[in-house]
Amino acid sequence: MSTGPVFFDPGQRVAVLTTQPLDRLLTYRAPEGGCWQGAFVEVPLGPRKVMGVVWGPGEAGFDASKLRAVSRVLDVAPMRTEMAEFLARVGDYTLTPMHQMLRLATRAPGLTDPPSMRKVYRLGSGQAERMTEARVRVIEVLRDYGGLAFTLGELAEMAGVTTSVVKGLVKLGAVREEESPRDLPYPRLDPDAPGKPLTEDQRAAAEALVAGVRSGDYGTTLLRGVTGSGKTEVYMEAVAETLRKGRQALVLLPEIALTAEFLKRVEARFGARPAEWHSGVTMTERRRLWRMVGEGEAPLVVGARSALYLPFRDLGLIVVDEEHDQSYKQEDGVLYSARDMAVMRASVNAARVVLASATPSLESWANAEAGKYARLDLTSRFGEAVLPEMRAIDMRAEDLPGNRWISPTLEAHIRDRMEKGEQSLLFLNRRGYAPVTICRACGHQIACDHCDARMVEHRFLKRLVCHQCGETKPMPEVCPSCEAEGKLAPVGPGVERLAEEVGERFPEARVAVLSSDLFGSARALKAQIELIAQGGADIIIGTQMVAKGHNFPLLTLVGVIDADLGLQGSDLRAAEKTFQLIRQVAGRAGRADKPGLALLQTFQPDHPVIRAILSGDEEGFWRAEAAERQAAGVPPYGRMAGIVISASSAEAAFDLGNALARADQPLRAVGAQLYGPAPAPIARIRGRHRVRLLVKADRAVALQPALRQWVGQFTPKGDTRLSVDIDPQSFY
Ligand code: ADP
Ligand code: ZN
Repeated sequence: MSTGPVFFDPGQRVAVLTTQPLDRLLTYRAPEGGCWQGAFVEVPLGPRKVMGVVWGPGEAGFDASKLRAVSRVLDVAPMRTEMAEFLARVGDYTLTPMHQMLRLATRAPGLTDPPSMRKVYRLGSGQAERMTEARVRVIEVLRDYGGLAFTLGELAEMAGVTTSVVKGLVKLGAVREEESPRDLPYPRLDPDAPGKPLTEDQRAAAEALVAGVRSGDYGTTLLRGVTGSGKTEVYMEAVAETLRKGRQALVLLPEIALTAEFLKRVEARFGARPAEWHSGVTMTERRRLWRMVGEGEAPLVVGARSALYLPFRDLGLIVVDEEHDQSYKQEDGVLYSARDMAVMRASVNAARVVLASATPSLESWANAEAGKYARLDLTSRFGEAVLPEMRAIDMRAEDLPGNRWISPTLEAHIRDRMEKGEQSLLFLNRRGYAPVTICRACGHQIACDHCDARMVEHRFLKRLVCHQCGETKPMPEVCPSCEAEGKLAPVGPGVERLAEEVGERFPEARVAVLSSDLFGSARALKAQIELIAQGGADIIIGTQMVAKGHNFPLLTLVGVIDADLGLQGSDLRAAEKTFQLIRQVAGRAGRADKPGLALLQTFQPDHPVIRAILSGDEEGFWRAEAAERQAAGVPPYGRMAGIVISASSAEAAFDLGNALARADQPLRAVGAQLYGPAPAPIARIRGRHRVRLLVKADRAVALQPALRQWVGQFTPKGDTRLSVDIDPQSFY
């Protein structure tokens, strides 16, 4: 689909891509009235009707009289050629079949429904004779809003009357009832509304981004700026320019909890709220957004990674905020990196990408070094705020009993902040009360029945929880192995246990715990975050969710409870992730006018990563890390694919793994190396045994065709499943 849309006359053969698990396009006759290439259609398949997209001309050679016709063309904007190309490219890159790509691109409910109507109410021409006070209020609301239409509920609420009052006015002709389409366009945003006056640095960066948008060509820019330097203010100017050009902009955020604050900033800047796309958005709103974005009636979308697959009419800018964040990698279903696919989407759309971060991924840093991405740096915080000072607390020298985690040094600093009325944040990247529960009589550790994982005690929930599969069970009274009574003991800290320690040491402190599992809803979490921002807590205890972009103006001390935690393990990005996470967390301190301090509790203060974090020599860290990866031939300097085979029996999983290893000729032909099969680090999840293989190749190698050929030699049998993860981020 590269030559632009084509029209098919009625009866002409068209090839249709459906969302059904078939490995080919289906041929149909174009319906009465014909259809465009890209049209969303309903087609008969066996006894059913399924959704699909007209992908191109149909295959000749079938008996035309046996061909069935497209049942119906859906009333939504046809898929644009660049969208089709984008889906094909992602499919190619991630080895994902096209029907699955189409699913990803149509994840909105009710697409096959006709555009539904609803009743709205406006001022009528009739005069009501008996005007009660309630009736007058309704008329006043309608007058005040100069001809605007309301739904029944909205109007009644605004006038403070019951719906029957409105209905009564309709009967009298004073209010008019009309049918109106449910999916309304999003409000216009005003790009010329004045923004904040930018500092000189900010202005230079904003001008570079604006020039990029004006060029109308593809280009990616890494916008690197320390936390609080005004990256958001800067890329907002690129959004404004995109809107001025009449194109659409997409801003990706790594966490729903961050959208509320961002929406407010957009509203303050452009005078209205943009469209939102994430798992917390209602089905009705999703449907509206999907349709409107295709008609160009949603100028700005703020969303989670799957917003990349929305059918924008003319996408001109994609911002990936906190681009280093691991949540941009989709870890089930279609395995893709939203950051990388954003670049791909922009390149087919002649659009710009802004990757914003205080601690960029090594991938983006390397791309900027290589000149593939432009790079802009904001080196100082806005206004009075200065970057926090960072220091290590050498835990080998601290006097601390075995079941305590706050060192005397850290404790003294927290006390000092409390006396000054400032906030402290204690960071520990472990949910729950204790990561391990052990029997002191026999040494047994309580594990999940379905996973190769220990269960984590969550005292708040009063249960043990498996962080792999979510299974929970009550804390047993006796050891499940030796049946000793009263011998089960927690080992190690989670945030809940840390909160307990804080409660004992600082009984007068107001403590807030921020951990994703403690909030039933996004709303509750948002309320907690707002409470903290307004000074409603003295000590905040948080998992990694506190590292992400929240603004706590009164926070001046960050204590990292276990800075060594992320350095263990075999993950090739362990150093990078630790560096990013701790720098991000530390960046929460001292955002307003008071200087911040970050203290890292560590048993290895001389570890190169800890030293790099403390020194703040980011360029030095990246260079050293890049050199190591280059020497090892791993991403971003080499290509990598992870293969996970899972089955209900370990034998079946290994059988396929061994067969793949024996048939590695397609890989050898391109000079790729294969490692494994080996049991995965978590060898069983949800009762399924897991086996891993790893493929490594030179950067120059076209790995996907070789992988496709290699994996394509086998069809997993029974309940065996195989997944290929290109550029894997996790290795569990
Ligand atoms: P970053 O995204 O780099 O963390 P933000 O854009 O969130 O930084 O800016 C940090 C804070 O400083 C925000 O409250 C923002 O409104 C404020 N700020 C940044 N630049 C300016 C400016 N030029 N004028 C006024 N306020 C600014
Ligand atoms: Zn489990």
